[in-house]
Amino acid sequence: MDPGFTRSLDDLLASASRLRPGQVVVLGLPSDRGSSFLRGPARAPGCILSALLSPATNLCAENGLDLRADPRWVNLGCLELPDDERCHAHIEMAVTGALERQARVLALGGDHAITYPIVKAHAGTYPTMTLLHLDAHPDLYDELDGSRTSHACPMARIMESGLVKRLVQVGIRTSNPHQRRQAERFGVETIEMGDWAQCLDLELDGPVYLSLDLDVLDPAFAPGVSHHEPGGCSTRDVLRLIQGLKAPLVGADIVELNPDRDVAGITAAAAAKLLKEILARMLAP
Ligand code: MN
Ligand code: MN
Repeated sequence: MDPGFTRSLDDLLASASRLRPGQVVVLGLPSDRGSSFLRGPARAPGCILSALLSPATNLCAENGLDLRADPRWVNLGCLELPDDERCHAHIEMAVTGALERQARVLALGGDHAITYPIVKAHAGTYPTMTLLHLDAHPDLYDELDGSRTSHACPMARIMESGLVKRLVQVGIRTSNPHQRRQAERFGVETIEMGDWAQCLDLELDGPVYLSLDLDVLDPAFAPGVSHHEPGGCSTRDVLRLIQGLKAPLVGADIVELNPDRDVAGITAAAAAKLLKEILARMLAP
C-alpha cells in the first residue's frame, strides 16, 4: 500500500478509536493553505513516509531500537483535508480522536500553520505543556498578507490563546522588530541560531511538544523547503537535541518539507531520519 494513503476524517476517527494507550501514531496532515510564498508542503507526508520505508535504509534508530515490527507505533496515513477554513477544525478533531485513546501523535505537515490546531487539541490533555519550537523563523506574526492563519503566525495564535506554559524557540535567525516585540509580549524564550552551542542543554520539565520546521536546518542539509535561510544547523545538531531531551515527549510535528524544492530527496531523507529518532525518543521508557 502507498505509505501516504489518504483517508477521510470519519475513517481516521474509526481507526483512532481502536488505538491503545501509549501508542504513537504517525499522521500525515497534507495542508499548505497557510503557505505565504510557495505551495508544495501538502505533498510532503507521502514523500517522508516513502523515504522512511525506502529499501535504501532500515528502520533502526541510533539507539538500536528496530521500528520495523514494533507494534507501539502505527502509520495512520494522511487525513483528507478541505482546502478552506474547515481545515483546522478537521485537524483538531483527528488529533483529539487519538489523544482520547491516550495515544500520542507525531504529525507530518504540511506547512507550519497545522501546529496551531494540533497544539490546541493537546492543551486539554496537557495543560502545563512546554512547546519546543525549532525553526529559522519565530512564526510570531500577528498577521501576514492579511491572514492570521498563515504559516508565519501559529506561535502568535498559540501564545495569545494561552495553550502552552512555555514556548522555547531554537535556531531562530530571521526575527524582525515586530516579531521581537511579539516574543517579548508573550514571554517567549529564544535561543537564536548564533547562540546555539554544541552541548545545548535545554532545561525543560513536564510534558514537551516538539514542533520541527525543517528550515531550521541549513539549506545545505535541507534544500527542500520554501524559505531558504542560510546559516542554519546541521542534521546532527537536531538529532543530538532530540536524543538528549530528558522531559517526556508527548507529541511532535515535522513541517515545511516542500518536495518541489528538494534535491535528490535529501530533505525527505533528513525528515525521515528525524522522524525515526523522534519516534524512538517517544517510545523510550
Ligand atoms: Mn515555521
Ligand atoms: Mn521556518
